[in-house]
This record gives sequence, structure tokens and C-alpha cells, in this order.
Amino acid sequence: MELVHRRLLRWRTSLAIILCLATTAAWPYSYWRADGFGLCTGPRHYYFIATNAGALTVGMRDSYGEQRGVTWYHNPTENDRGIYSLLGFQFILLPRGMVLGIPIWLCAFLFAYLALRCFRRLPIPIPGYCPNCGYDLRATPARCPECGTIPPQQESISN
Ligand SMILES: [Zn+2]
Repeated sequence: MELVHRRLLRWRTSLAIILCLATTAAWPYSYWRADGFGLCTGPRHYYFIATNAGALTVGMRDSYGEQRGVTWYHNPTENDRGIYSLLGFQFILLPRGMVLGIPIWLCAFLFAYLALRCFRRLPIPIPGYCPNCGYDLRATPARCPECGTIPPQQESISN
């Protein structure tokens, strides 16, 4: 169980780092291009999630005659300073819908915080203990009986 917990923690740390890097890259890019997914379910129902002008936006609007189904879009950024605030928070009411936006920098910051929090909980390798699961290796220094890991100094001797 301890091993599963450590693996999950490592997986979560990696995921948070990847998401942090992705959102950090998406932030400046969003001022150049707006990317997103749209889902049209009917004549007046078009839902979308997109990055645009520094914000991650979700919303719904009239479909304006678009075909039903999922679409991917990659358009020049719609950067209207009158609508988009400097920090990236958005709340726009449309004639038949609305747009909510949160700043991408805030997402990157949250993922960085999560990555750091997970990283700090990862076990620090201690000599004499398994670097993978933390099992006491004094009785079996060549190989961890708990998870099968061969400690680094044992790997160099056996080679
Ligand atoms: Zn182990």
C-alpha cells in the first residue's frame, strides 16, 4: 500500500509539472492564437472551452448555423481590450449565452503550487533504505524484498 501511495504521489507530481509547463507555454501563445473545442448540440446550443487572450474560457452561445458535432478551432486571437481585462478574468453576457474566463497565469501558478506540494511530500532517499519504497534494506542490501528495486551502489558492484 505504501508503494502504491508513493507511485501515485510521483505520478501526481509529474502530471502537475507537465500541466504547469503546458499552461506556462499556453499563456503567451493565447495572445497570438485562440484554440479550443466547440460542441454544437442544436440550433441554439454551442458550448466551448478555449484559450484566448490570456484566459481559459468556457461558455455557451447561439450556434449561428454551425453543424452539430465537435469542432476544433485555431483562430487569430480575439483580443478586445474593452472586453478582456488585463488580469485575464472574464465574464461576458451574450444575447444568447455567456463566457466565463479565468487567467491562464493563475492556472500555471496553481499547477506549480500543486507540483511543489507533491514534490515536498516525496520521500528523500536515505542510505540503507530502499530509494523506491523506503523499506529497511539492512538485512537484504542487494535487493529490496518489498518492491524488487536494486539500490544504486549494488547495481554498480554487480556490473
Ligand atoms: Zn523497495
